[in-house]
Amino acid sequence: MRDIVFATNNRHKLEEVRAIMGHVFNVLSLADIGCSEEIAETARTFEGNALIKARYIYEKYGYDCFADDSGLEVEVLDNAPGVFSARYAGEPSDSQKNIAKLLREMDGVKNRKARFRTCIALIYEGKESMFEGSIEGTIIEELRGCNGFGYDPLFMPAGYELTFAEMPSEEKNKISHRALATNKLIEYLLIKN
Ligand code: IMP
Repeated sequence: MRDIVFATNNRHKLEEVRAIMGHVFNVLSLADIGCSEEIAETARTFEGNALIKARYIYEKYGYDCFADDSGLEVEVLDNAPGVFSARYAGEPSDSQKNIAKLLREMDGVKNRKARFRTCIALIYEGKESMFEGSIEGTIIEELRGCNGFGYDPLFMPAGYELTFAEMPSEEKNKISHRALATNKLIEYLLIKN
């Protein structure tokens, strides 16, 4: 079976992708290829950060690979926290502090439109491609639900009465930004194989 590296050490993301394309590709993690170094995400866009990670692996290890970067964009905050979503309230990354900061920034604000976005950069047979997924929604005024992670308790996708944190994970994983981008990637790879 053909090897492909998913430039992540997030077990949950890895299992999700393996479940969908593991019958066609041997999906390797960073740990599987012995890459333990931190790859600095220094770009100002999701696309840029995803490309930095994918190029690093391709150039240093020579594998076909893909890498993702995601975050929350809030309209009234000029699309912040964006690429700083994980460290919005500073380092080290702390979801509760990030959520508290977002609620402070949004205090009394009427326009509560937001979206989650994921970009996946793929380098396959030397060619670079980008896949994107996004989901629109609103930032509610208090936390609801305890599933998921990050900003999930504050994000209510458009057309739903539940936050991401109130949905069962299978439901979130059908409609999320990450699911949409991952499905596009997988469709592309499966057509090629
Ligand atoms: P990553 O690039 O997927 O690791 O996401 C970066 C950061 O964006 C996370 O640490 C979260 O703060 C936020 N984020 C990304 N996706 C989600 C999601 O599905 N729910 C909640 N927060 C998310």
